[in-house]
Amino acid sequence: MSPVQILMYHRVGDFPGRVRSHGALYCHLPRFKAQMAMFKWLGYQVISLDDAVAGLAGQRALPKKPLVLTFDDAYVDFLEHAAPVLKAHGYPATVYAVSELIGKTSSWDAGVGPDPAPLMNAAQLREVQDMGFTIGSHSSRHLRLAQQSDERIHSELRDSRHALQDLLGSRIDHFCYPYGSHDLRCIEAAAQAGYLSATTCQRGAATSQDDPLSLPRKAVSRGDSLLGLWWKLRFKDIPKHPAIRRPGPGQAAP
Ligand SMILES: [Zn+2]
Repeated sequence: MSPVQILMYHRVGDFPGRVRSHGALYCHLPRFKAQMAMFKWLGYQVISLDDAVAGLAGQRALPKKPLVLTFDDAYVDFLEHAAPVLKAHGYPATVYAVSELIGKTSSWDAGVGPDPAPLMNAAQLREVQDMGFTIGSHSSRHLRLAQQSDERIHSELRDSRHALQDLLGSRIDHFCYPYGSHDLRCIEAAAQAGYLSATTCQRGAATSQDDPLSLPRKAVSRGDSLLGLWWKLRFKDIPKHPAIRRPGPGQAAP
């Protein structure tokens, strides 16, 4: 079975030039358009996270070169810039929203990272959902979950799922760990909260050997040329560190 390439994007818009830090936070729109076109030339088939998770579990056939697009934080610029390009190609995508910051800004970056940017409000998230995209949860408050108490971890996973389900009137089945921060407690909490998948920032391609609640992803950086992105897709499948995972049938304990 071919591995599933899960790509991680954040903001898409007018971001020409290079930056010294936080490169994975931005994608310049012309470059984004070229990347979306490139997936077709390279023979990748962009599938939904639902199809990828079912395929990895052996419940559905996967295409030969499956690729999944994810967008963290649910910035307003997803709706303005990324969504029309994705629609033109007929590509599905998953957008991870922070349930207590709907319609606010990425305030977790204030003072420590890039300038906070506007996040989609409820109407905008509904619009994205109505366009056929999937909304997932990116926790309640965008904390580093592995540094939190058990109780806080459970509430961030559970409460964000409930809040988004109430807000959007649909099932929220996919989670993304803020900053990629997770440990075994977070994975167990994701299972208890009822998520079907959870994605990390561990760079690699997802296979049927992965725990669906700690799926690796490849970040697309502002500095990535088409050749650079092709290289990432083609050669960076094996994570540098073994993934944190739950012990299960036929699997060694972590
Ligand atoms: Zn985030």
